[in-house]
Amino acid sequence: MNYQEVWQAALGELELTLSRANFTTWFKQTGLLALDDGAATIAVPNTFTKTWFEKKYHAAILKALSHASSGSVKNVLYQVDARPVSAVPIMDANRPTGRFTAAAGAPARTSFAQDPTNAFGLNPKYTFDSFIVGKQNEMASAAAKAIVDRPGQIYNPLFLYGGVGLGKTHLMQAVGNAIIARLPQTRVLYCTCERFTNEFIQSVRSGHAKEFRDQYRNVDLLMIDDIQFIAGKKETQEEFFNTFNHLHQSNKQIILTSDRPPKAILAEERLLSRLEWGLTSDIGQPDFETRIAILEAKCKEKNFPIDREILTAVATTVTSNIRELEGALIKIMANCQLRNIKPSVDFVKQILQSFSSSAGKRSTTPKQVLAIVAEYFDVPLVELLGASREKRLAHPRQVAMYILRQELKVSYPAIGVEVGGRDHTTAMHAFDKVSHNKDEDLKLKQDLEVLKEKIYSVSV
Ligand code: ADP
Ligand code: MG
Repeated sequence: MNYQEVWQAALGELELTLSRANFTTWFKQTGLLALDDGAATIAVPNTFTKTWFEKKYHAAILKALSHASSGSVKNVLYQVDARPVSAVPIMDANRPTGRFTAAAGAPARTSFAQDPTNAFGLNPKYTFDSFIVGKQNEMASAAAKAIVDRPGQIYNPLFLYGGVGLGKTHLMQAVGNAIIARLPQTRVLYCTCERFTNEFIQSVRSGHAKEFRDQYRNVDLLMIDDIQFIAGKKETQEEFFNTFNHLHQSNKQIILTSDRPPKAILAEERLLSRLEWGLTSDIGQPDFETRIAILEAKCKEKNFPIDREILTAVATTVTSNIRELEGALIKIMANCQLRNIKPSVDFVKQILQSFSSSAGKRSTTPKQVLAIVAEYFDVPLVELLGASREKRLAHPRQVAMYILRQELKVSYPAIGVEVGGRDHTTAMHAFDKVSHNKDEDLKLKQDLEVLKEKIYSVSV
C-alpha cells in the first residue's frame, strides 16, 4: 500500500465524472509525487497540462483527493515532470517518509523496436493467478488458458467482450504473461486500439508506414485492447485487417477485446466475419460470491486483512464493476492506513457513500421503479399495472418499461411479468417508442431526467 494508491483511488472518482476522452487526454500521464502535511504534488507531463489542471480541474482533483484520503489532503500542487509516468518515483508508505522508491513495473518504452524484452506493453501484475474465475468469466478464462498451451492453433482470434472494468484487459494480458513465462522467446505485443490507430496515422503522415507494418507483423502474439475504437475508421480498419490476415495466415495468435460484440463494431461483412473466425466470449458482471472472492484475494495480495463483515458491505454496495470494487477497497485501505485505524463497519459505510450513487441505480429494484413512476405521474400503482389502456395510464406504463430496460437492464420478458403480466413484445414496443420519441419530445426527455434522478437517489 502506498500513496500512489491514493491517487489511483482519486483517479477512479475523476474517471466517473469526466468523459472518457477527457479523462484519457488529461490524466493518463499523471502521478502523485509527494504528499506532505496535507499538500499533494501531482506530476504532470507538460506545462500545458499544468495550466489546464490549475484552471479547469483543480476543484475536481482536490475533491477527489480529499475523498480518497478522507480529508487528509487539503491542497494540491502541480509539477511538470517529463519522465514517463511509470518512472515517476512513488512514495512507499511502509518506508520512512521522505524516501522514494522506484515505481514497480518496467519503465515506459516508446517503441516496440527499442524494447529489450519480448513483452511489449505488458503489465506483470495481470496474471492468471490474480484472476478470480466465476460464472461470469468461466468460458472466457478457459479459452484464454487454452491459448497459452497452443497459441495460434485453437481459437484465433479470441474475441473477448464485456462492460467496463470487468477484467477484459486483465485476462488478455494474463495470456501474454503466461506465454512469456512458458516460452520466453515468444514475441508479444499488447497495445490499445487507440495507440494502434494513432501510430498508424502518424506513420502514414511521416512516411514510415513500412516500419509500422513490420512492427505489428513481426510478432507471435498480437493483443489489441478495446478494438471497438476502430468503428468508423476506414483506413485504420483496412490496415488492421491486413495485419490480421498476415498474422492469421502464419498461425500467429490474435486476441482482441471490446466493450461490445463484433456485430456492433463493424458493418462490413467481409471484415466482420474474420473477427468471428475464432472464439467470441463475453464477460459478465460478477455475482456476490465472486465479488467477495475478488475482495478477499485483493486483501491477501496487499497483505491487508479485512473482516468478512466489511467485505460483505463493500460487495453489497459496489456491484457491477470490478474496477470500482477494487477502488473501494483501496480507498478503505488508504484511509485506515493514513489514520492508523482498523476498519470498522461504520467507518467503511461512510467511505462507501461516494460509491453508492452509482451503485444505487443498480440496486434499485423494478418494484421501486414502478412505484416511483406511478407517484411521479400521479396514478395509482395498481392501475399502472392493470389492464386499462387509457392514455393517462398507457404513457406512464411505457415510460416505466423503458426505464426498466434502459437503466436496470431488465430483460423484456421479465419487464412484461413485472408490469402486470404482459407479453414481452409489449415491453419491446414500449422501449422502442420511448427511445424514439424522447429526442423530439422535450417534456418526455425532462420526465426521464427527473425520474432517473429519483431512481438513482433511492438509498441502498
Ligand atoms: P476492463 O478491461 O474489462 O475494463 P480490467 O481488466 O481493466 O477491466 O479490470 C479492472 C480491474 O479489475 C483491474 O485492476 C483487474 O485486475 C481487476 N479485475 C477484473 N476482473 C478480475 C478478476 N476476475 N479477478 C481479479 N481481479 C479482476
Ligand atoms: Mg480494458
